[in-house]
Amino acid sequence: MTTLAVNPGTHTDRQERRLVVVGGGLAGLAAAASLVGTGIRVTLLESRRRAGGRAASFDDPVAGGLVDACQHVAMGCCTNFLDLCRRTGLDDWLRRDRTMYFIGPDGDRAACRPARWLPAPLHLAPLLLGMRHFSLAEKAVLAAGMLRLARCRERDVDSSQTALAWLQSIGQPERVIRLFWQPVLESALGEAIDLVSVPAARKVVVDGFLAHREAVDLVVPTRPLGELFGTRLVDWLRVNGVEIVTGCTVTGVERTADGTVISLTGNGAALPCDAAILALPWKQAARLVPDVVPPADDRLLGSPITAVHLWFDRDVVDLPHAVLVGRVSQWVFRSEDASGGSPGHCQVVISASRGLLGGDRQRLIETVVQEVREVFPAARDARLLEARVVTDPTAVLSVRPGVEAARPPARTAIPNLFLAGDWTATGWPSTMEGAVRSGRIAAEAAAASLGRPVQALIADLPKGPLVRSICGG
Ligand SMILES: Cc1cc2nc3c(=O)[nH]c(=O)nc-3n(C[C@H](O)[C@H](O)[C@H](O)COP(=O)(O)OP(=O)(O)OC[C@H]3O[C@@H](n4cnc5c(N)ncnc54)[C@H](O)[C@@H]3O)c2cc1C
Repeated sequence: MTTLAVNPGTHTDRQERRLVVVGGGLAGLAAAASLVGTGIRVTLLESRRRAGGRAASFDDPVAGGLVDACQHVAMGCCTNFLDLCRRTGLDDWLRRDRTMYFIGPDGDRAACRPARWLPAPLHLAPLLLGMRHFSLAEKAVLAAGMLRLARCRERDVDSSQTALAWLQSIGQPERVIRLFWQPVLESALGEAIDLVSVPAARKVVVDGFLAHREAVDLVVPTRPLGELFGTRLVDWLRVNGVEIVTGCTVTGVERTADGTVISLTGNGAALPCDAAILALPWKQAARLVPDVVPPADDRLLGSPITAVHLWFDRDVVDLPHAVLVGRVSQWVFRSEDASGGSPGHCQVVISASRGLLGGDRQRLIETVVQEVREVFPAARDARLLEARVVTDPTAVLSVRPGVEAARPPARTAIPNLFLAGDWTATGWPSTMEGAVRSGRIAAEAAAASLGRPVQALIADLPKGPLVRSICGG
């Protein structure tokens, strides 16, 4: 029988309480990081060779190194994700883009920057005014729509209404919906605008735009995610005493008659524990403890995200990022060359990509290459060396009307079993911030259950009086 490559310890030794985190995605890593210094012995078990979960990279022979399966971006409002990166020394591998680059349907470029000197939400005025693909009247209607959404309370909305239906009901013009609401909401929520709930859309507008002058900053990793989370964060955890076992799939949770967890089985060996955090996607969590996490495939659905990787024979993208509006391609990212890695590589990201161009990969590549050539003149003469399409069919939780009721909290009916993961009830869409929050919430609950309380979750960006008067809270 294979054994776990950790010291199983003596379960009877009550001096040291062992907590096992199952799953080494951002939720599990954040949970483990929160427990450093609490005196709790933490062991993290991850089934893959490298931690990081969906925020992952693959080894690419063309690039000769790690390439992210899909570019990940955070925003200034992601306070817990940014705090985790700061605490664990990852923040020098993050870049803050204060200017957002939009490329309109006719190829017009707009560099839109919120004002640092105006109080929120007025800081957005220059950003909106800078969107050259809208007329002044459209900008006014858009600003009014944002304010209306921010003022909207859940009780005022038909709970089955989607964001698209709501935007149409308040008279947002088709062009404003197609060229602003659709790209912004779909990329922030990872789901189609005709499927997402109104509260999810409101959260993007309030937290991601209106709340604070720094909220809308784009935070872009400058190194592969595999290095950030799979190596550097893991190294930090190990140095700080967390035992991390990769290549270990947990297949069983042993419990007493009253449900209390006493050990976890992975690689054929049992690891005794005093508490466990399952930081797994919902299907895997439901498989391990179906009485605690009932299968919810009818209520919890995934939404796909596609990344189209293009390797040209030279650098063709002359902006750090670009939002392409009115096209199939939604975001384009120039590959960071901090590692000396992949010149000529860029990524085109398309959220809510189900059924995209009938699932025809070749047509997708041709369409995306043509669009890149339309908007980046340097690509017209460049030779395409290689193209690759990477789709995760369940990239994020689909935040449809009613989904919040199906997202479970960190605490379960079992006093020493806790849940984390971007799909749990964090109030956030399923993002890196949502995952980190879930891990921190679960760590707080688990630490309290072991008599070692810890404060892990940090506050949102503070809302000024003007924002509070508009949005409440
Ligand atoms: C294509 C794509 C693009 C995205 N873009 C963005 C973005 O731009 N910005 C953003 O904020 N978010 C983005 N996200 C979402 C973000 O990646 C996720 O919200 C976040 O990484 C989820 O973390 P998690 O820990 O909750 O889950 P996961 O990352 O899924 O982690 C779960 C872990 O559990 C492990 N595991 C599963 N079963 C077992 C088992 N039985 N035993 C042991 N281990 C097990 C898995 O291997 C995995 O490592 C994107 C996601 C995808 C897929």
